[in-house]
Amino acid sequence: MNRSYQLFIDGKWVDSVSGETFNSFNPATGEVNDIVAEGRADDIDLAVKAARKAFESGPWHEMSPSDRGRLLNKVAQELWRKADDLAEIESRGNGLPIKETKFIAIPAMIDVLEFYAGLANKVQGETLASPSDRFNFTLKEPLGVIGAIVPWNFPLMLTMWKLAPALAAGNTIVIKPAEQTPVSILEMVKIFQEAGIPDGVINVVPGYGSEAGNALSSHPDVNKIAFTGSTNTGKLIMQAASKNLKPVSLELGGKSPNIIFDDANIENAVNGSMFGIYFGQGQVCASGSRMFVQDSVYDQFMDEFIKKAKNIKVGNPLDQTTQMGPQVSLQQLERIEQYVATGLEEGAHLALGGERCKTNENGYFFTPTIFENVTSDMTIAKEEIFGPVLSVIRFKDEEDALKKANDTVYGLASGVWTENLKRVHRMAKGLKAGTVYVNTFSMLDSVAPFGGTKQSGFGRELGIQAIDMYTETKSVWVNLNDEHFNWYG
Ligand code: NAD
Repeated sequence: MNRSYQLFIDGKWVDSVSGETFNSFNPATGEVNDIVAEGRADDIDLAVKAARKAFESGPWHEMSPSDRGRLLNKVAQELWRKADDLAEIESRGNGLPIKETKFIAIPAMIDVLEFYAGLANKVQGETLASPSDRFNFTLKEPLGVIGAIVPWNFPLMLTMWKLAPALAAGNTIVIKPAEQTPVSILEMVKIFQEAGIPDGVINVVPGYGSEAGNALSSHPDVNKIAFTGSTNTGKLIMQAASKNLKPVSLELGGKSPNIIFDDANIENAVNGSMFGIYFGQGQVCASGSRMFVQDSVYDQFMDEFIKKAKNIKVGNPLDQTTQMGPQVSLQQLERIEQYVATGLEEGAHLALGGERCKTNENGYFFTPTIFENVTSDMTIAKEEIFGPVLSVIRFKDEEDALKKANDTVYGLASGVWTENLKRVHRMAKGLKAGTVYVNTFSMLDSVAPFGGTKQSGFGRELGIQAIDMYTETKSVWVNLNDEHFNWYG
């Protein structure tokens, strides 16, 4: 039976002002999972008002940083208790294999909350080296109302990347989940509510991007937008945010290079590069979707890679043995098919997959796919496909690898496989990306900043630095003289 969900505004579960709802689908079956209230501009406005009120007055406003941290830790403990349920809800909503939600996405998400709960009472200003007759100190203050707009690939984890530092620093928030996956976020917010988060501190308004998302990013009383999603939407959000000049942080798309040198440990490079592209069905912003393999090791590496990729088990995301679930939506499935057709038209060689899985006709399942003979000017080497499609490009030497790897408008992540330490350092400096993985791929941890350069966005989530994205530095001057100087005589 389908479940129904309302909006969460000012600590209450409410229908949308319009009374409209939308369906959220199970990507493994193509059937409707849940019916969700559809938020629009009016609902966003109510949510922003509630968040403003909670920021300016009431228990959250008055709570000490230590108490805020304690409350967030209490929520984290509840999340651990309900982690298996959340993992299942997440997998039902976006098709991630349960092994990936249960052992990676959900634990990583709770770890982020614990990390920032610990930082809540360490957000501090400085005492500066002032002249002896004047004194300057800085206050590190919350921004106010944060708007968080998140995608569907890791809804809970990517929401927490924004929610946890925003709350730890004392802000309040309005979250706009992706229309494909609102339910896990609504379930998570219930846990915050049960743990005692004051009304209005967190508000969740599911709805469509062009309506609810646009209303949030253009709202005059929102102090900052934290966005994860596509580069095109990031550009629209910047424009909308410019109406009241609110700052934005953008975690956008990628076409990350993954470079295998002939002095790499080949077995590790095969295993790590497969995780780099097929984890999350390739719907990972940092996925290593352009793989560069050195000529001298090409045949050996690709034989082993293709042999292994053929055995990936695609199927029901709730089955513990599944290694790749369905793509999130029919629209994504069709988009991937279109890219495969373009790859063939432009002359790439389809070495594996390239089609829907025949065993699961109603779900949005796609086969692990590998294109060889790809060149940097082909569409499949330039554009983000956001699916399990790998483009393999040959290279001669280090200089050639670096030139080809950096030949992209994106700059999110990159990977290097080599046993040569000097080369590691040269490549780490030369690659134009927010993250460089060495002899690994797609690693994440709460302590390590994550974000992009070029058209992959700006701002860094995670790590201590992320607190800076949710605070403002205020400079305070105190005159220590008994009299003020008389400049105008
Ligand atoms: P998307 O940009 O279409 O949607 C993301 C969110 O933005 C959704 O909540 C959507 O409703 C909202 N949105 C859409 N149009 C909007 C508008 N005009 N105004 C305001 N909000 C709007 O992206 P997607 O297809 O859902 O997600 C896939 C993309 O996200 C990929 O490009 C991927 O690389 C990127 N991504 C990046 C990261 C990262 O950390 N860099 C992580 C995950 C996904």
